[in-house]
Amino acid sequence: MIEDAQARVVLVGNPNTGKSTLFNALTGLRQRVGNYPGVTVARKSGTCELADGQKVELVDLPGLYSLAAVSPDERVVVDALLGRVKNEHAPDVVVVVCDATNLLRNLFLAAQIAELGLPMVIAVNQMDAAKARGIEIDGPLLSYRLNGVPVVLVSAWKGEGITEIRRAVAHALTHKTIFPVVAWPDAIAKAVATVALTAERDTQQPVPEALAQRLLFDSAPTIAEAIGWSAEAREMPIRQAREQVRRSGLNPPAAEPMVHYARLREILEGVVRGVNRETTTVAVDSILLHRIFGPLCFAVIMLGLFWSVFALAKLPMAWIQNGVDLTKAFAASHLVSTPMLQSLVADGVVGGVGAFLTFLPQILILFLFVGILEDSGYMARAAFIMDRLFSWCGLNGKSFVPLLSGFACAIPGLLSTRTIEDPKARLATAFTVPFMSCSARFPIYALMCAAFIGPRYGAFWESVAMVGMHVVGLVIAVPTAFILTRFILKVRPAPFVLELPRYQMPKPRDVIWRMWQNAYEFVSKAGTLIFAITFVVWALTYFPRDPAVAERVRAESPQMNAEHLEARVQAAYVEQSWMGRFGKSVQPVFDPCGFDWKLTVGVLASFPAREVIVSTLGITYSLGKGADANSEDLRVAMREAKWTEGSRVDTPIFTLPTVLALMIFFALCSQCGSTVATLAQEAGSWGWAAASFFYMTALAWIFATAVYQIGSKLL
Ligand code: GDP
Repeated sequence: MIEDAQARVVLVGNPNTGKSTLFNALTGLRQRVGNYPGVTVARKSGTCELADGQKVELVDLPGLYSLAAVSPDERVVVDALLGRVKNEHAPDVVVVVCDATNLLRNLFLAAQIAELGLPMVIAVNQMDAAKARGIEIDGPLLSYRLNGVPVVLVSAWKGEGITEIRRAVAHALTHKTIFPVVAWPDAIAKAVATVALTAERDTQQPVPEALAQRLLFDSAPTIAEAIGWSAEAREMPIRQAREQVRRSGLNPPAAEPMVHYARLREILEGVVRGVNRETTTVAVDSILLHRIFGPLCFAVIMLGLFWSVFALAKLPMAWIQNGVDLTKAFAASHLVSTPMLQSLVADGVVGGVGAFLTFLPQILILFLFVGILEDSGYMARAAFIMDRLFSWCGLNGKSFVPLLSGFACAIPGLLSTRTIEDPKARLATAFTVPFMSCSARFPIYALMCAAFIGPRYGAFWESVAMVGMHVVGLVIAVPTAFILTRFILKVRPAPFVLELPRYQMPKPRDVIWRMWQNAYEFVSKAGTLIFAITFVVWALTYFPRDPAVAERVRAESPQMNAEHLEARVQAAYVEQSWMGRFGKSVQPVFDPCGFDWKLTVGVLASFPAREVIVSTLGITYSLGKGADANSEDLRVAMREAKWTEGSRVDTPIFTLPTVLALMIFFALCSQCGSTVATLAQEAGSWGWAAASFFYMTALAWIFATAVYQIGSKLL
């Protein structure tokens, strides 16, 4: 537990400077993740031991470029620095994490924080990258120019300079080292004083100059709201103060960076030496960000990604499949005397969960490649390319990071919309995120491709189908966003500033760690949620078991050999089970999409979590094959599945139109309880979550129907 008496140290810095990496290096595994009161911004804190043995609470604050806070994430930083977070006093020391390759811009934030009068340590991180580029930094000189504020040269990544940070923080705690404040031009100093006085008079509380500065410079109402200075009361005095600044020849919004940068340039004179040899990144970007080659390379990279996922996963998938089959056969043969338990274990547990686990290698390889693309710096380029291709549809430039995250999972995608300032643009982005093809959709695409598209059309078309499914959501998201931003929410366009990180060799440890984490989540889901739903689906598909059903089937076909007869009996049982009856009664709704009642059951069971589809199909298609089933591969079972009634009787269920319709349905449908709940939380209303659910589900049905109907006519 953190005691109140314990000192609080916060990490602040521009995004991507390495705060999290430094945080991990300083706290090790002693971390806690929670939320800030009242907002859904994650609060990451841990215990850090300083050089003198003292233990302090270390808090990793969200990244930001300036204290002119507009997005929820940025507001939290300002609140935390001002000591306005409930039950938290202001930090005792602020560690400003800077990127050594961009020190000037990074120190702007430090200069702003300096105005708040908080003791500070400057951590100049990524020194390894700076050195590689020929940049040298004179730490002691910088520290001297900053009135003795400790400056530590760090490479959080390599673990260099960590001990020095522990020492510097201890020093700052005792010596209260304050970054020197800037000398404001008279007009600004006067305007700030006037704002402070008026605010004090109106709110009946002391308003320090640091706050008055923010009130003068920022158009965002964060601070004014925090001190309870109403919009009517503050409008005139702030306008007059700004007018005062303007009359002196300064432009108020530009004045703050201008004054800070002018001084910082002086401070850095002779501190940063050497040339910034930034040639590789520029050369590579001239191709990867080219107007025509850029998107082309993007397409090739994506195609290559999915192709390798298939090619490399084939063997391990076959092993897992064999393992599952063997376990199933083993369980089935040992439980012959108890048919119900035999079915539960063989068909329900092993068959259902096993069918799902078969996709583990593909998921692992997918996350491995995505991790490499992310860490190498390419993902940010992908966002840039997407922005150029799609900004016309009204999505905020910052939307692309959430949308890209959505390709892994909608939840982090939804959470990362918090970096978007405009609440309407945030909502529009959150609404489109669930359309991105998350990894939970992967198993069904993979199953359909492996069972039907690959064997018939080859690996190339398999990859094309896969990429196609990942693009479908995007294609629908674009007009959706367009309508939403232009006509419904009326979002004002915002300029897009995305910093492109330099390219670097991904670190195997980081990539593998993330891959492992994702895989762990995948498997633990299989162990819990998927298992639970699988169990329910099995039970609903197994019961009731009326012996009269078996007798009737046997009486109908007395000549049939025992094995076929048994299969028929099992099929008849499944058909008259609760799930069978339910699926059959709902099936007419999905008939236009080409889904039989078993697929209907699969679709319905997948509404809480779409990855359940594979295990459900595993149960519904293999149960009908007989519980003695000598290891029926789901793919074979599906290929053999035929319509049992209606005009399509005895023709295969899984034709190309059905397969495509099913994949499209899963690409578009809102089948994830967690996403709907998160959307409600992020949008602040269940109305938007419900709208998203119905919109996506209706679209899924419409597109699946169109694909099946048109496909059946053409093919
Ligand atoms: P945050 O956004 O500030 O929390 O930054 P992260 O800790 O997530 O780091 C951003 C990126 O910079 C990651 O790709 C890190 O691997 C990389 N990074 C962090 N510290 C260093 C460092 O000391 N040297 C180099 N070369 N890269 C680093």
